[in-house]
Amino acid sequence: MRLLLATMSHETNTFSPVPTKLARFCRDGTTLLKGEAAADFYRNTGTCMGGYLQVAAEAGAAITVAVCASAPPSGRVDAEAFELFCGLITDAVAAGGWDGIMLDLHGAMAVETFEDGEGELLRRIRAIDRATPICVAYDMHANVFADMVVNADVVAGYHTYPHIDMKETAIRAGRALLGVIAGKLKPSTAWGGVPMLPHVMAQGTHMFPNKDLQAKCAAWEASGRAVAASLFVGFPHADVPMAGLSAVVVTDNNPADAQAMVEELLAFAWNAREGFTFQIEPLEESVARAKMLGEAGPGVVLLDHFDNCASGGTMDTTDVLREIIRQELDDVVFFGIYDPDAVKQAAGAGIGQEVELEIGAKLDMPALQSGSRPLRVAGKVRTLSAGYYRATGGLSPGLQVYMGTTAVLDTGRVQIVLLSRHIEPTAQEMMRILGIDPAAKRFIAIKSRVHWRADLGKLAREIVECAGVGVCTSDYGQLTFRNVRRPIYPLDPEMTLNG
Ligand SMILES: [Zn+2]
Repeated sequence: MRLLLATMSHETNTFSPVPTKLARFCRDGTTLLKGEAAADFYRNTGTCMGGYLQVAAEAGAAITVAVCASAPPSGRVDAEAFELFCGLITDAVAAGGWDGIMLDLHGAMAVETFEDGEGELLRRIRAIDRATPICVAYDMHANVFADMVVNADVVAGYHTYPHIDMKETAIRAGRALLGVIAGKLKPSTAWGGVPMLPHVMAQGTHMFPNKDLQAKCAAWEASGRAVAASLFVGFPHADVPMAGLSAVVVTDNNPADAQAMVEELLAFAWNAREGFTFQIEPLEESVARAKMLGEAGPGVVLLDHFDNCASGGTMDTTDVLREIIRQELDDVVFFGIYDPDAVKQAAGAGIGQEVELEIGAKLDMPALQSGSRPLRVAGKVRTLSAGYYRATGGLSPGLQVYMGTTAVLDTGRVQIVLLSRHIEPTAQEMMRILGIDPAAKRFIAIKSRVHWRADLGKLAREIVECAGVGVCTSDYGQLTFRNVRRPIYPLDPEMTLNG
């Protein structure tokens, strides 16, 4: 048996000013992973590609990895970059001889030239090869367009947010594909959506309503009623027509039941729509509340959640950090500010040296009415790191991670992590390799929304959500939506499903 595998993954924040050129899809900014090197990189890791490789190995299949192109969230994908990695996949399909195709896609990729990157890839594959069975593993944040479903035989989505079941999702999709190849499974797929844009801060699977929705999907799969049942919360910061919540259910040759399960998920989600909204507290009050909670000891987590780079944030807005400094919170780790120039200045000065730096706010954010300002800070360069580590837990155990050259500036009260690559703080080890023990810190301030719960969440005694500034704002009123279908909840709060 010969299987073709590929990853093409990007969550596009159409409001983000962060450019998405080819280099962003390359490991270390230089190498686009493919072939044996890609298989070696992902084998035995907690990733979708890791799951596909495991399924293929169990089946004794010969594999080819066309490409593993994966980039942190940012603005629309550069058209040339898309054509390059999409072309690597379609060229491999055209070469022929495949028994099955396993795709690891995100589901919320918008390209300069297309609203629906994944649908475009699948449409092109089907134009070359109408017959070879295809399975796709999608992220829970997929904004599902028709082409993403009708051009695949099996579709499966994650059940957890933070996403700790990426590998399991691909294993579910991959094993179903083997069933199709063997003629033992005849997939029937139903899908649909309701017009709603769940707030990301209300999408976690630790809470109602998504916890309940995902539990339904998992129970149907466990009982065998569904081959794969997926509830996609969608990614609201992609201003594209199909942004928002949807469901896809695959059964073994039972279209009516697939449709029934889709309708049950959508009705549940719509009826629970208020649970998918988020209330904002003024920043000054949040930081004051955090300061008070810190009097009882370590474990107060402050979430600078308007500027999460894993949702397309610039990761360089300074407003939450400025307020932490102004209110004199003591014993803080702040992870982090993306500022490659500041990292260079810190590295130039050297460990132990006193420096005064102007950090952050270097990227304009035209999508917002008001931006951030650079922050002048003085302190000692405490740590310089090349930023390499192998993940032991959290989101993708086993994966080799490159944070880029990283500096820690110690102001006395606050240890500020200065970054030269966009990376979301999720795991304790990201701080430990910088010589910071987060468990001992009174305050852990992070530019994260939900993924931090995968590992840093173990240290949280209290959680304070801080409304800073950024292009993944939880205040939809700060953004101008032009392309998403209307009416849609909660942009049109009084709408009903019947218009
Ligand atoms: Zn996601």
